[in-house]
Amino acid sequence: MSAQKATQLLSREEHPHDEGDLSQQSHEEWIFLNRNTLDMKLLREVLDALRRIDGGTYGICPGCEEPISPKRLDAVPWAKFCVSCQERIASGISLEEEDRYQEARQ
Ligand SMILES: [Zn+2]
Repeated sequence: MSAQKATQLLSREEHPHDEGDLSQQSHEEWIFLNRNTLDMKLLREVLDALRRIDGGTYGICPGCEEPISPKRLDAVPWAKFCVSCQERIASGISLEEEDRYQEARQ
C-alpha cells in the first residue's frame, strides 16, 4: 500500500460523513428505481385506458357498470373503476382478480 493510499484511507475514516454520502446515494437510487416502477404501472394503466377508449368502454366502471364520475376522470383520466369499486378492490380483491372475474363474466 502506498503512503498516499494509506493517507487517503485514514482521512476517509476521519470523515464519517463520506459513509453518509454513500447511503444517501443508494437511497436516491432506490427512489429512482421505485419511481420507475411506478411509471411503468402508470404507463400500463394509461395504455389500458386507451384500449377502453378504443373499445368504447372508457368511463364505465367494469365493477358496477356505472359511469365513472367526470370529476374522478378529471383527476385520474386512466381510472378504471369508480371510487366505491376502487375502494372495494383496494380493501381486498386485487385488480388482477377483478380482471379475471370480468373476463369470466364476458
Ligand atoms: Zn364501480
